[in-house]
Amino acid sequence: MTPFSYERAADAADAVRRAAGPAAKYLGGGTNLVDLMRETIERPRRLVDVTGLSTEIAKNADGGLVIGAAARNTAVAEHRLVRRRYPMLARAILAGASAQIRNMATVGGNILQRTRCIYFYDDEGSRCNKREPGEGCDAIGGFNRNHAILGASPSCIATHPSDMAVALVALDAMVHLRSAGGERSLALAELYRPPGDRPDIETVLGPGELVTRITLPAGPLAARSDYRKVRDRASYAFALVSVAAALSVEDGRVAAVRLAFGGVAHKPWRAWKAEAALRGSRPEAKAFAAAAEAELAAAEPLKGNAFKLDLLRRTTVAVLEKLAGDRA
Ligand code: SF4
Repeated sequence: MTPFSYERAADAADAVRRAAGPAAKYLGGGTNLVDLMRETIERPRRLVDVTGLSTEIAKNADGGLVIGAAARNTAVAEHRLVRRRYPMLARAILAGASAQIRNMATVGGNILQRTRCIYFYDDEGSRCNKREPGEGCDAIGGFNRNHAILGASPSCIATHPSDMAVALVALDAMVHLRSAGGERSLALAELYRPPGDRPDIETVLGPGELVTRITLPAGPLAARSDYRKVRDRASYAFALVSVAAALSVEDGRVAAVRLAFGGVAHKPWRAWKAEAALRGSRPEAKAFAAAAEAELAAAEPLKGNAFKLDLLRRTTVAVLEKLAGDRA
């Protein structure tokens, strides 16, 4: 491990001040960053611990929910407002990792965790453009069962590993940021950069910019929502595919729907085309499958991960049929 200094921030302004300058990283629960440091894939010279920042989980002024970036995943999943009003979020977190990891991991760290592409971690034996831009990508012609079918580039086909972020994107979450230049907010779906020819640059965050909180809008739609994750084994593993969905049916037609996919792209993938295809249709398997197909029309599967097309379509149909049945 490369030597580094450690300091603990008192509040968000203090954290931003301490992280000024090169080679500083914010430290949340450390469940991903510390692993990467052990492998010398991440080599920060200074760690600024932000676990003392806001852990608030509460109703905000407009009736939605605010979640402090330092809130632990377990606290979010177990919170009564999350369980009652945003069940897909609680289920996504519970599907994401073991209790020990959930107890450590923070919300801010979760949405910024890095891919688990095996070649990215193989510092000694594999080429990886995310680790070393311009080096090449051994996943493209290699073992790519877990890799992206949407939004990838000729430089990188990695997937984003978070389950929580898939639910948050489906829920129209906003992410609130602070830097030396001030504060700003953006839709979480806009936080992630496409890989293009610089897959090492994963977000639109500026230098030293800190995630301070997440907010979720109010509204009844999310109260009956679900998250389903398909993985290679029953114990904890990253998603082959996952689906976060909320569905509202009125007068026998889909009135509103939110849909996001995990395990298939460099980011939690909001299925805008599928949502558009579903609105106004009958809530039945044929329409659900057609909606998934509309989203997957742009997919570019590889030999090792083409099975994800069918798996994602079937999972989408299953989740939406369950939600439609819940309303019957
Ligand atoms: Fe690296 Fe991306 Fe290729 Fe994986 S898919 S080896 S992360 S460039």
